[in-house]
Amino acid sequence: MAPDHLLSSDDIMALARTSSAVERPCTCRIDSFREWTRVPADFPQAQMRPAGTLMPDPYAEPTYAEYHPHGTNYWSPDAPIALRHFPANRCTVQQCSVCGRACLRYVEAGGYYVEPRIRALAPDLIVDAAVGD
Ligand SMILES: [Zn+2]
Repeated sequence: MAPDHLLSSDDIMALARTSSAVERPCTCRIDSFREWTRVPADFPQAQMRPAGTLMPDPYAEPTYAEYHPHGTNYWSPDAPIALRHFPANRCTVQQCSVCGRACLRYVEAGGYYVEPRIRALAPDLIVDAAVGD
């Protein structure tokens, strides 16, 4: 699929189920990135394949609203992966061509830094709540 292919929530769920079913160890260690994590220096980016994007409109500024109905925060390993909320709404999805695991990726831009971050795609955390809920 093309990197700019817009993934539906069904697409995401299918990728997440595939990813979470993989048991064999892999150098990508995507399964260890349960919370948002700075992309490690030794991350095998060359074996990643783009699966698509969650950015609905490249010309619209996506919301910075986060979705934490159960008291989690940005860094929580059990924080929802809310597809229409920050930061999932800025993410692309990439899949490891070696093991099949998939993760979200975006670039966090602070005042004085940019930091690529990744998080494993976990099917039990994905929610498609509307912004404003
Ligand atoms: Zn892998």
